[in-house]
Amino acid sequence: MHVNDSHQFGTRAIHAGQQPDPSTGAIMTPIYQTSTFVQRSPGEIIGEYDYSRAANPTRDALEANLANLEGAKHGLCFSSGVAATGVVLHMLSAGDKVLLGDDVYGGTNRLFHRVFAQLGIETVMVDMTNLDEVKNAVDDRVKLIWLETPTNPTLKITDIEAVSKIAKSNNIILAVDNTFATPYLQNPLTLGADIVCHSTTKYIGGHSDSIGGALLTNNDEIHQKLKFIQLSEGAVPGIMECFLLLRSTKTLHVRMQRHCENAAKVAAFLDNHDGVERVIYPGLESHPQHELAKKQMPGFGGMITMYLRGGIEESRTMLETTKLFACAESLGGVESLIEHPAIMTHASVPADQREKLGIDDNLVRLSVGIEDVTDLIADLDHAISTALKGSKASAS
Ligand SMILES: *Cc1c(COP(=O)(O)O)cnc(C)c1O
Repeated sequence: MHVNDSHQFGTRAIHAGQQPDPSTGAIMTPIYQTSTFVQRSPGEIIGEYDYSRAANPTRDALEANLANLEGAKHGLCFSSGVAATGVVLHMLSAGDKVLLGDDVYGGTNRLFHRVFAQLGIETVMVDMTNLDEVKNAVDDRVKLIWLETPTNPTLKITDIEAVSKIAKSNNIILAVDNTFATPYLQNPLTLGADIVCHSTTKYIGGHSDSIGGALLTNNDEIHQKLKFIQLSEGAVPGIMECFLLLRSTKTLHVRMQRHCENAAKVAAFLDNHDGVERVIYPGLESHPQHELAKKQMPGFGGMITMYLRGGIEESRTMLETTKLFACAESLGGVESLIEHPAIMTHASVPADQREKLGIDDNLVRLSVGIEDVTDLIADLDHAISTALKGSKASAS
């Protein structure tokens, strides 16, 4: 199939990077489940491939597909999101410094502070929504800025274009983890980022059945470095995983439309609920960066953070009571999930930093799936009233 830049997202999601198999006409990219490729004569390969760590046709199709969706020239896939993150860090050297968003994925935080710190790469945490703080943190040792937007779990929005200007004028590489927004809602490269990172485990995979990561860039030099590290370290995805992700990207736009629709309705419901103290959703006018979110994203995604009118016990009961919202870490699947960051995903974040970020004991994070939204709302309503029954909140 020949897709070009004038085709819309849904068309590119289904066709980009893929063509019928030349040897059989199979419409779907085959699972080239092979480690090696026969050579005609020593050093004379038959097609483009010699060994699957270096490249494999199924992985190539996925990498081309994801690159297209992010508006990138180059794409590389990895065995997990954190593996992809580590590859970016391996471009740096001892003595270099990184500015890291203060509200990033817990595993990212751990990788920077507990693995790469040992190799002499220093990390400074910065509130990326405060541009003065970003500017003031820059010095000539800073070689990389790494941010997420929206963040996890407090859904802060960073102005990617503004940070990219700071990065460019100081010769710093800007990497954006676009896992929450997906390429359907945000293309950081067009806003000036140098590298986009994805945990494909989440919305891109969308079915909670695989772990994977990806890096996308338009910069040839950065791509060559990343590709060399991919080959040298070998944290590549399995071929079956690549096939599963190619299946997933074909429905990314349809799933994201429904995630956004459902989340908007759930956010509005929670916002009006007596048992809920506060709702954070970029689509709500009460969100501190609602205007920026509107400018940067055509939709607001499927993640909602809420503060229950209660404490740790009420939150625990709420998470034990929901039936459709499964209590589990992770996000971005077709099924709805509910989790408690202070106990679960962000337990490794020191208590004082959790407090600074607002990750309180009554904060509950929802990954709104694509089930029928009336059922999701009924499930939450029941769980909240059960949690608050007998507590002070329900009496007030
Ligand atoms: C899950 C996640 C990661 C890590 O990805 P894995 O595939 O679990 O290794 C990185 N960033 C964000 C925003 C995530 O949600």
